[in-house]
Amino acid sequence: MVYIVFLGAPGAGKGTQAASVARKLKLVHIATGDLFRQALERGTELGLAVKSYMEKGVLVPDQITIGMVLERISAPDSGVGAVFDGFPRNLKQAEALDEALARQGKAIDKAVHIGVSEEALLKRLGGRRVCRQCQAPCHVSDSPPRVEGRCDKCGGELYQRPDDSEESIKKRLEVYSDETTPLIDYYRRAGKLLEVAGEGGVEAVGKRIVAALGGERL
Ligand SMILES: [Zn+2]
Repeated sequence: MVYIVFLGAPGAGKGTQAASVARKLKLVHIATGDLFRQALERGTELGLAVKSYMEKGVLVPDQITIGMVLERISAPDSGVGAVFDGFPRNLKQAEALDEALARQGKAIDKAVHIGVSEEALLKRLGGRRVCRQCQAPCHVSDSPPRVEGRCDKCGGELYQRPDDSEESIKKRLEVYSDETTPLIDYYRRAGKLLEVAGEGGVEAVGKRIVAALGGERL
């Protein structure tokens, strides 16, 4: 039974790596984004609460997020262990998670921090384009469209979401850093932090993560 937390800035590739490590180590991948979507689909009380926050365009409060994650790790299939992706995102959530796990005689084993320089993050996020017609994503330098400004799938016009403008990205990175720096310190002090360089391709980064975790004989 292994519990691993993934930390990384927007654009660091955290979701992709968390999913891949969960597959390799046969752990449950718990992404808060997925939990929100599932709760919405099922129309549960939590789901309706989440919906009202999302419609207002505000962050879902910690209490609700924590409730959902705890419910998920109590499910039978989570007994093998889990990879957390997008949670905890602040110190309060991390402490709540530790307390809840401790009540079940469990604990977070490792926190993997995927480190990417701000310069590289700006390039990754700033290069994103989305098709106006079919919403397919691409990237001006990493996966450039065959015809500039046009979607490979449907020929629709590519545009940059307002969220991906340089100003928005810098703001998002700032918010991330304010919330997550204390979290990184928290896991470092607990002796659980694994720092992994997030530059390079998805595969290269994945190998570094598995090597770091393997070095811990998980
Ligand atoms: Zn398209």
